Amino acid sequence: MKKEVYRPFINYFQKSNSGFILSNDAGYNISLNKKQFESFLRGKVKDKKCLKRLSEKNFFTNRLDFDLLAERLGSYFLRDWKGPHIHIISVTKRCDSNCFYCGANAASGKAVDNDMTLETARKTADFIFDIQSKDLMLEFQGGEPLLNFKTVKFIVNYVKKKNKIFKRNIHFSIVTNLIGMDEKKLDFLIKNKITVCSSLDGHEFLHDLNRKIAKGSAHKIVAKWLKKISSLAEKNTGIEAPNAICTISRASLEYPKLIVDEFLKQGLERVQLGPLDPLGRAEVQWNSVGYGAEEFLDFYKKAFEHIIALNKKGVRVYEKGALMFARQILTGRRPRYQNLDFIYRLAYNYNGNIYGSDEARMLSNSGDEFFKLGNVCKNSFKSLLNKPMARTLFLSAFGFLTQPKCARCAYNPYCHMMPVYNYAAQGSFWGNMAVSERCKIFKGVFDIIIDKMKEKAVKNIFINWMENYR
Ligand code: SF4
Repeated sequence: MKKEVYRPFINYFQKSNSGFILSNDAGYNISLNKKQFESFLRGKVKDKKCLKRLSEKNFFTNRLDFDLLAERLGSYFLRDWKGPHIHIISVTKRCDSNCFYCGANAASGKAVDNDMTLETARKTADFIFDIQSKDLMLEFQGGEPLLNFKTVKFIVNYVKKKNKIFKRNIHFSIVTNLIGMDEKKLDFLIKNKITVCSSLDGHEFLHDLNRKIAKGSAHKIVAKWLKKISSLAEKNTGIEAPNAICTISRASLEYPKLIVDEFLKQGLERVQLGPLDPLGRAEVQWNSVGYGAEEFLDFYKKAFEHIIALNKKGVRVYEKGALMFARQILTGRRPRYQNLDFIYRLAYNYNGNIYGSDEARMLSNSGDEFFKLGNVCKNSFKSLLNKPMARTLFLSAFGFLTQPKCARCAYNPYCHMMPVYNYAAQGSFWGNMAVSERCKIFKGVFDIIIDKMKEKAVKNIFINWMENYR
């Protein structure tokens, strides 16, 4: 009988604590010990179980599933791309909070010349409708968007009217510190099904330390409104359950468990733990608010392990970044809402200037317009496509083509580099992944999750998250 031949096919691999992690362009990955890896490279895997797993995951050139590859590569190379679907509109540069790490370098609460005018708002909405994407997510940001609520209302009403003709799937959300919330504004948000996302840095002491306001406790205000919105969501009033983002400052590092518990205390099942970027005030004060990758990873591991332990006890809670990564690992598909600059998202400043990401828009608030793509009053979306910056941002989504370090990294199918971070932290668009703290954080988080996923119970928790959460 003719002996079967297995020719190894890998795009990416790297050493791990227990051997090697391999991944391929179909989005699959596998962990092998040293012996298995060496026999795989020689095309002589004897372990039948391992051989089957490798074969099913498309790690042999002569056993490739071309239909699957065509589908996965098609989605990876944006076959059906019609334009970005996330549109972040900064309706004002003003803010009524004074967070010492503010990346947006927000202006004081009274400077109204930092507000988006209704005319710019109309042009912004027209610009967005010019994009052919069927799904549009409009996210209001600031500064603090509640300080210029009339523009928020104007855009929502204008977009809804316009959509009677265009018939797109439109979702609105607002990212707010909730300080300026009142019943009237909330009523508008409910009637228009606008999802609320706030900031929750942790328990009262930590939140108020990070997020200073002129009078009283920002935490008390956030807790009050989150509770109210959650209870309205439970009563099926039309508004979704609120979300919150937790920015990890240096002061947060010692409270991984308390931060997760605080989310649960406020009725939030989604925990989102974002590392601080060296932008705006955070850049200026990096020595007091910033930290290194190892410190963040130590924090993240403890928080993540706490979340898993809670899940094992039946508590409903998940970490958003971990879920996104697990979904990619388990399905091989790029998430629709991945933060790919220009490809999936655009950001608009209060003055109509357009950027490929919110971070680029924030950078512009510090006076650096390096990433500016155009202005809604002067440019159409089509005209942006020809700009060198837009094309370079496009290219940056494919790390294996442009980054020597990413070209062999096992996490390349799931990772993306962030040009604004590179620019801010390393002084160039492409940066240097070999010494990038952000790359270290990504790698470390991937290591933690892949390692934990080896445990069947944890893998089942991830599958459960995928079935229950977006
Ligand atoms: S940025 Fe780092 S972790 Fe991500 S693919 Fe590149 S080398 Fe890998």
